[in-house]
Amino acid sequence: MTTNILIIGGGTYGINTAIELQGRGYAVTLLEPGPIPHPDAASTDISKVIRLDYGKDELYLQMMAEALPLWRQWNEELGETIYHETGVLYFTLDGMQANDFEYESYLLLQKHGHPTERLNSAEIRKRYPAWNAELYPDGYFNPQGGWAASGRVVTLLAQRALQAGVHIVQNVGFKQLLETSGRVTGVLTTDDKQYHADQVIFCTGAWTPVLLPHLADVMWPTAQAVFHFKADQLSLYQPPQFPVWTADVGKTGWYGFPAQNDGTLKIANHGVGWQQDPRLPRQVPAEAEERFRSFLAESLPGMAQAPKIFERLCFYCDTFDGDFWIDHDPQRPGLLVSAGGSGHAFKFTPLLGRVTADVMESKSNPYAARFAWRERGDLKAEEARAAGEGVRK
Ligand SMILES: Cc1cc2nc3c(=O)[nH]c(=O)nc-3n(C[C@H](O)[C@H](O)[C@H](O)COP(=O)(O)OP(=O)(O)OC[C@H]3O[C@@H](n4cnc5c(N)ncnc54)[C@H](O)[C@@H]3O)c2cc1C
Repeated sequence: MTTNILIIGGGTYGINTAIELQGRGYAVTLLEPGPIPHPDAASTDISKVIRLDYGKDELYLQMMAEALPLWRQWNEELGETIYHETGVLYFTLDGMQANDFEYESYLLLQKHGHPTERLNSAEIRKRYPAWNAELYPDGYFNPQGGWAASGRVVTLLAQRALQAGVHIVQNVGFKQLLETSGRVTGVLTTDDKQYHADQVIFCTGAWTPVLLPHLADVMWPTAQAVFHFKADQLSLYQPPQFPVWTADVGKTGWYGFPAQNDGTLKIANHGVGWQQDPRLPRQVPAEAEERFRSFLAESLPGMAQAPKIFERLCFYCDTFDGDFWIDHDPQRPGLLVSAGGSGHAFKFTPLLGRVTADVMESKSNPYAARFAWRERGDLKAEEARAAGEGVRK
């Protein structure tokens, strides 16, 4: 008798979990309240950073070392280049120091035999002329990593899910859990229909703590601003002179991408952000552009006056410790939550479905323990992170 699985949410977690479980012989239905990819979804964007660099955190480095070859393979399998291996730059304002994100990443990469190229201002000036090298005395280049066309990836994987037999229902969203004698047996949807299943899996990203309020103490939606500016001298803002970059990201949050062939240059900040309900109208705070432009004026002077061509608020599903959340709900049998991307999950797209499926089947998985259901722990560390002192993952 085939087991029925109901997945709520068609972002990268949902689509990849659907493909994996359908492949393991389950009958999978996926509900998404809009088109796939949904314009408001975090997974929907022109680019996301793919990096091995995770400070002292060995688990994410190992996980990325497993995912990276899969990204390269997808370029073959999916018939187009969705992963661009430009390498990633890590600049620092005060030199690389112990306990800093950049220095610890550099050491861990070397410990695991991954190539790195240390950089000083002279090197930066010569190899990356768009940058104000005076500002950045130290850093390194990681030739592995780059960016993925995230929205396009979700589109192609949704096609793959359909071909695999996943039943995708678009323009229908979750409204309420259906429970029978303490077990979650399905959901009521926004068009007042009932969907029943043996297992319900929530992959609703930043919407998760608002749709399942009992999670609001351990995860919350955080809005982040994203800007696109128009670069005119393409060669100066494209690889090899301009790969994916981070500018003392451990302390400042600044990171960005090479210009696309139409001149679109995306910049974002992996910082504190704003707590906001993702269902409400989205308005980028007025002061954000000024902050982005003062960063440009200092670090990328040639872009300081560049025309703004797009801005957006995009939402993280932030967990209290920055780790993903993939586990059965201990109080609600029949419900599994796979979310908590905390602003850094897209790069693990090739593995997210497998981790979620292993957890559902209680199969051993090298990463799952870190993402298990957990209590809030070290509040001090949380307060530091909330104040932007702690390094985001
Ligand atoms: C600004 C920004 C920059 C980022 N940059 C990077 C990066 O460079 N590298 C990286 O690795 N990661 C990055 N991330 C993180 C990454 O994008 C996310 O961790 C990942 O995409 C989350 O995927 P998801 O499937 O959980 O959520 P989403 O992609 O948001 O999907 C959730 C889905 O749930 C649906 N949904 C909402 N309400 C309902 C409902 N009622 N019923 C059913 N479905 C519903 C939504 O429509 C949506 O399609 C970034 C995120 C943001 C916001």
